[in-house]
Amino acid sequence: MRYRLLPALNLRLLILLLALTASLSTLVSGFYSTYQVQKEQLINYTLKSNYAYARKLASATDSFLEAAMQQVAYSAKIVEQQIEDDNLLKQEVIRLNLQTNSFNSVVINKGGIVVATSPELPELINQPISSTGALQAAKEKRPLISNPYMSVAGNLIIFISHPLFNTQGDYLGYIGGTLYLNEPNTLNNLLEQHYYRQGTYIYVIDANKRILYHPDPKYVGLYAGDNSIINSVIAGKAGTSETTNRQGEGMLAGFAPVTRAKWRIVAQRSVRATLTSLDLLIVEVIKRTLPQAIITFILIGFFAHFISRPLKQLADRVNTLDDPVSFEKLKNVKSWYFESQRLKLAMLKGVNILQMQIGQLRHDAETDPLTNTHNRRSLNGLLNQLMVKQTPFALLEIDIDFFKRVNDTFGHGVGDEALKSLTNIIKNLSRKDDIVARIGGEEFVLVLPNESSESALKIAERLRMTVESTNMKTIGFITISIGIATWPKHSNDIDQVYKCADKALYHAKEHGRNRCIVAQGD
Ligand code: GH3
Ligand code: MG
Ligand code: MG
Repeated sequence: MRYRLLPALNLRLLILLLALTASLSTLVSGFYSTYQVQKEQLINYTLKSNYAYARKLASATDSFLEAAMQQVAYSAKIVEQQIEDDNLLKQEVIRLNLQTNSFNSVVINKGGIVVATSPELPELINQPISSTGALQAAKEKRPLISNPYMSVAGNLIIFISHPLFNTQGDYLGYIGGTLYLNEPNTLNNLLEQHYYRQGTYIYVIDANKRILYHPDPKYVGLYAGDNSIINSVIAGKAGTSETTNRQGEGMLAGFAPVTRAKWRIVAQRSVRATLTSLDLLIVEVIKRTLPQAIITFILIGFFAHFISRPLKQLADRVNTLDDPVSFEKLKNVKSWYFESQRLKLAMLKGVNILQMQIGQLRHDAETDPLTNTHNRRSLNGLLNQLMVKQTPFALLEIDIDFFKRVNDTFGHGVGDEALKSLTNIIKNLSRKDDIVARIGGEEFVLVLPNESSESALKIAERLRMTVESTNMKTIGFITISIGIATWPKHSNDIDQVYKCADKALYHAKEHGRNRCIVAQGD
């Protein structure tokens, strides 16, 4: 029974698959863990640097606000001393406004009335103060940074002011500067200089979550929603937060308070932007690993080939082990490692045994078991070979005379021994190329290649006489009769040759037995 093997699955493929799976999974898990570690580091780094950044900006903003307050305080000192000198007041507001770019406008209020502005705004002079910042300053009567508020003109403003007192300590009013949060000034420059560094942007909110600064001006003045970043920024003093923005995008935020104004500065960068560089990095790593990986895979392919080759060759020979050529091929298989060597040896041993058994079977099929001479089938084959080679031959048909009597007298076993003894006599007289066969009970054929009837008759006579004069154990003497015919002299047809020999043997029996007769016709 033959089993069909799946042609797709062989050892080489399996080794290849195994090695590929192993190396690919190592590669992939290597990439994956590298990615994870790098990602963690990058996120931590981004959080930390955003935090550092927010702190730096917060402290710079603080410094700026402090400087602005000092400027106003200094002006306040000058103005307090000469509060009645309107010219000086005018000059002082101009100086304060133009000296630095800290303020968008400067104003002096005396007794609740605007007395000087820069830039000059005649419509405000001698008018009572009304803006939120001004009212807050007048109410609190201390150096103040106001809460951010909307001006009449729609600008988001903070008002930095210093109270004015006379020498007796009476409150006179204030001098203050406005800062437009969405228009160019030092504060804006300070914040603007930094934004969009590698996708990082900053924004500033006040204690009421109002956006004071944002790279996109349309957000300035709006209130930040109730999102988790804002909440953690408002709740915490300074720190980092990994959370999502209003659009649900992951954000890495660092934040720090501006203590002088209760603002929070937030520096943040989206996780996506942060990891873009990492994705590029991994792609780059893969690109650089690829040639190495390809070489490795090719090497694996070679190894798979060399490992599987001996086994494949052995497997290929299995189907034709009875063929002697394949036995030689089997010997030539280069089995270079232990298992293949053992397999090859085992197969060689098996083939040896198989071929010996086949030889034995063939021998058995062609041999008469009692006399160990050729049987009829084997004889026919050998005669065919002679005829194919056009080798002429003489065919001697030998029959024991009155053999029945031998059996009857001494028993079948002794008869068998006599058959063996006769075989020995025939074999002893025959030459190398002669063929001895037992074709029936006590009938033998002796084929003599290249012998004529005459020479065959001589040999037959010699055989007959030897038998006649041989004293066999138990039974004593027997005689034989021989009929002789030749090929192709008597007939080209082997059956006719047999018949001729038969006839000659019959004649020998007829004429008294113990004699040799050549068939008629030669
Ligand atoms: P003849 O040939 O001279 O006419 O007389 P025969 O007695 O030999 O007659 P035949 O050839 O017809 O007899 C063959 C006998 O050979 C019959 C059988 O007893 C004996 N015989 C045949 N095969 C065997 C065998 O394998 N072993 C033994 N022991 N005897 C056999
Ligand atoms: Mg007979
Ligand atoms: Mg006989």
